[in-house]
Amino acid sequence: MPLKWVLLNNMLKDETALVIFSGGQDSTTCLFWAMERFKSVVAVTFDYGQRHVAEIDCARAITTELGIEHHILDMALLNQLAPNSLTRNDIPVDEAIPDGQTAPNSLVEGRNMLFLTFAAILAKTKNIKHLVTGVSETDFSGYPDCRHEFIQSLNVTLNLSMAYQYVIHTPLMWLDKAQTWQLADEMGKLEYIRTKTLTCYNGIIGDGCGHCPACTLRRNGLEKFTK
Ligand code: ZN
Repeated sequence: MPLKWVLLNNMLKDETALVIFSGGQDSTTCLFWAMERFKSVVAVTFDYGQRHVAEIDCARAITTELGIEHHILDMALLNQLAPNSLTRNDIPVDEAIPDGQTAPNSLVEGRNMLFLTFAAILAKTKNIKHLVTGVSETDFSGYPDCRHEFIQSLNVTLNLSMAYQYVIHTPLMWLDKAQTWQLADEMGKLEYIRTKTLTCYNGIIGDGCGHCPACTLRRNGLEKFTK
């Protein structure tokens, strides 16, 4: 490991991180990633009227099992602003980006920006500077606030808005789903993440329903990694 990474990792050992945590594959991988690096880890989950309350239950079960302080923030406002296929049972989830559209209807406009901003406010009240989020540009599916450029921009804005030195960590930014499984495996957590996290749009834990877009992406990544 290069010296600068050794020094950086040693610095983080005295710090606390706040992980934006949904109970899915990506954010659970980030949770373990943070637990390996930081002295302590706190998790925050946003309740925005997801189709499946199971998502919140799953996040709560994981943090309880791992003994991690867990905050659940009510973001019902988001559903009021932008009802979409992730929050409304009567809107089917797009399998792909529809013709003439720039994003699938599972997009909640501004979601990551809002989540990171609220997480930052919570973090400051707890003297936490490090924010960890599982956004990725590699599986980019039309969500502009998952991009590296946006995260860097928001980091500067948050620092200016609260006169605080936040550091936003995005360990999955350049990883595809197969590489995210690989990271889980390297931490010895592949089975844990495979069986205890919830990614499926139909609310089924572990391997999921098998046919929704989230299940397909997750399974294809796992198959690619295990080959
Ligand atoms: Zn599914």
